[in-house]
Amino acid sequence: MSVKWTVAKVFSGSAKARLASPQGQGTAGMLSSWVMRIIRLDKYNSTARATTALIPFASLLQVVLSLLALPMEKMIIIGTGCAGLTAAIYASRANFAPLVLEGHEPGGQLSTTTLVENFPGFPQGVEGPDLIMNMKSQAERFGARFEYATVTDFEAADGHVRVQVDGKWLETETLIVASGASAKWLGLPNEKARVGHGLTSCATCDGAFYRNVPVCVVGGGDSACEEATFLTRFASKVYLIHRRDTLRASKIMAERAMNHPKVEVLWNSAPVEYLTDAEGEMRGVLLKDTVTGAERELEVKCVFVAIGHTPNTAPFKGKLDMDADGYLLQHKHTQTNIPGVFAAGDVADRTYRQAITAAGQGCAAALDAERYLSHHE
Ligand code: NAP
Repeated sequence: MSVKWTVAKVFSGSAKARLASPQGQGTAGMLSSWVMRIIRLDKYNSTARATTALIPFASLLQVVLSLLALPMEKMIIIGTGCAGLTAAIYASRANFAPLVLEGHEPGGQLSTTTLVENFPGFPQGVEGPDLIMNMKSQAERFGARFEYATVTDFEAADGHVRVQVDGKWLETETLIVASGASAKWLGLPNEKARVGHGLTSCATCDGAFYRNVPVCVVGGGDSACEEATFLTRFASKVYLIHRRDTLRASKIMAERAMNHPKVEVLWNSAPVEYLTDAEGEMRGVLLKDTVTGAERELEVKCVFVAIGHTPNTAPFKGKLDMDADGYLLQHKHTQTNIPGVFAAGDVADRTYRQAITAAGQGCAAALDAERYLSHHE
């Protein structure tokens, strides 16, 4: 057996090997086992000289290939918010042992909220971080594997997809993108520390905590107008703070907010500092007039920042279909334009953006991925 034949044989088997490789064993793993199989066969061959020549080469090749090893997964789930974790529960319960990548915001937006009162099944409400931790334990119990890792690139390969995770590539037969959307913040000093202490980006989640007190919403788009209108149910007064003198929002949403007796629009205004009391809770904002530069304090118990969300889809740009703002498009149920790749939750939802709708989509994506796998095996 010549070295030339061995190399040709090994590499001609690579495409088939990748498709046939069992879970956790990628292209390189299969190639290495081919090399070892050839060596074993050769042990019984009478051409002892050829074997002797082959072993150092094969060992070297095996080392090189193991360095390039690409684990082939059945299912990778990106994101550990409600969508990703629900997908993980369903997929692990179906015995796929999904690999779940936690990303840069483990737990998603719920992990930064306090009491969640509108998630079904919790009459007294549930703390956002507790809800997330419970979902994670539930998925782990059935065999989901978690890794703190951020996806930086993605590409469709031959019958499967690859994701780049902290510099290394992983291969998977199915991928569920549930990387969520991150609320945009104003970028003021100590902003992160104020979240949950009178600073939030979700009126639906936190509005009910601020009954009969003044609050403000920052922004001039549909979200800001919608949140301001919603908050009139609870707050004594809602200031809508906008940096220009015209709203960006659609006419109907703008009018609904502006015509409400509890809403007062503060034009040409921008918060430049959060003001807190001795306990670190919000007591107001320092406002700057964007035309004159004049500053004044405004007393509010909570600041609702509604200046838009950014879907976490940067690694998929130009590869997965998305709308002008970067939200992933679902073509058939939760499937994207690439077979085997599914999207769930806020990364593909600019309308509802609720924990329960994200959870529902995570479930749907896991079921769609499961069906895809059963049709392709
Ligand atoms: P948006 O339309 O991008 O509006 C963001 C607003 O925040 C703008 O008024 C912008 O001011 C302001 N802003 C941005 N950065 C700011 C900063 N650093 N400081 C102060 N203000 C800042 O975002 P959105 O309101 O979330 O809406 C996003 C999309 O969802 C839109 O297409 C909207 O129609 C849609 N949406 C629809 C509904 C509905 O139909 N029910 C509800 C919500 C959202 P400028 O105007 O000066 O740029």
